[in-house]
Amino acid sequence: MLNDKDRIFTNLYGKSSWTLDGARQRGVWDGTAALIQKGGAWIIDEVKASGLRGRGGAGFATGLKWSFMPKPSERAHYFVVNADESEPGTCKDRDILRFDPHRLIEGALLAAVAVNAHLAFIYIRGEFVNEARHVQAALDEAYAAGLIGKNACGSGWDCEVVLHRGAGAYVCGEESALMESLEGKKGQPRNKPPFPANAGLYGCPTTINNVETVAAVGAILRRGGAWYAGIGRPKNSGTKLFCLSGHVNTPCNVEEEMGIPLRELIERHAGGVRGGWDNLLAVIPGGSSVPVLTKELSEKALMDYDGLREVGSALGSAGVIVMDKSTDIIAAIARLSHFYCHESCGQCTPCREGTGWMARMMERMVRGEAKVEDIDTLWDVSKEIEGKTICALGDAAAWPVQGLIRHFRPEMEARIRAAGGGR
Ligand code: SF4
Repeated sequence: MLNDKDRIFTNLYGKSSWTLDGARQRGVWDGTAALIQKGGAWIIDEVKASGLRGRGGAGFATGLKWSFMPKPSERAHYFVVNADESEPGTCKDRDILRFDPHRLIEGALLAAVAVNAHLAFIYIRGEFVNEARHVQAALDEAYAAGLIGKNACGSGWDCEVVLHRGAGAYVCGEESALMESLEGKKGQPRNKPPFPANAGLYGCPTTINNVETVAAVGAILRRGGAWYAGIGRPKNSGTKLFCLSGHVNTPCNVEEEMGIPLRELIERHAGGVRGGWDNLLAVIPGGSSVPVLTKELSEKALMDYDGLREVGSALGSAGVIVMDKSTDIIAAIARLSHFYCHESCGQCTPCREGTGWMARMMERMVRGEAKVEDIDTLWDVSKEIEGKTICALGDAAAWPVQGLIRHFRPEMEARIRAAGGGR
């Protein structure tokens, strides 16, 4: 369990002010100039030592990602904060944006120094209207106080920070689609390579990180990478924001130690499963795109990258969706299939055609209007999408369906038989 003294997101519930005064009381902007003056290489080394990994879903090592940026040249470097949080079941970045925007802006400045950028963007999803207001007001305060802009914090480093509102498309959370959108184009993922560190925004070296990742950087640099690395488990270090929703007694966001057992997380912070633990049917542990876990797997799952991989799922965005026995699990996954079909940008055939096919087939599975062997066809189609598309939306569409078939095939077959299908 996370000690209170190790908490980074101390205004997660908005109990104190989100403005500059409140942020300063929480230690944000404390000694930032001195951190900047230690230089980009030092910042990268500390973040590498911390073991911080991307909190948006991919879990890539943050310090290593920053080190991929080329040496300074005539080309501009950009740093971008991905605030396009759209994963169903996930609402952690939202609470940083609205209750602790200065922590994010300070982190963006420090990250910009690390990657040699003098211009940073915060790309926020269009639906986050009030959050964008808070971030813009915090930016205005930071400019007025000399914390960003020319000679940021009096450090000698110039860094402009610009807030950009997206138009509301799930796929713009994918970093290359985000850059396309930021450039004013249709938000469609790019083929890789080249990777953003070589040719990103406007063809220039660019690093993109998730809100939670960036907002943790100031605390890590002030307290030291070793402090952060001492929380959680090796290769899975630090604190994490978990979003607990669905059939729990007290849905909430909470900051906890990485690697906390899933059952403890639900029972300690969300008041337990509605009707008690034995009423649990399944949990989606990392936002809608990761495979579902049964009650048995949920009992042994540890909430970090390796822990969830060991039980056949993923940490993703750490949106924990709890479903009790009243849930029609086939309908729940069908709803997700519909979502991914709707959000497909249509660029690549397996995703464009496959997500629609899976969504239609899942609708039939809900009604039992299928044959038992259609379950195998559904599995095969999901495998034809997984890993064969430009961006990870294809995988995100395939994995919930695969998780359903892997763990709830008897329920699917029973539904078909009850409706008179079968064979
Ligand atoms: Fe677009 Fe889907 Fe291809 Fe991603 S996988 S680029 S969302 S069609």
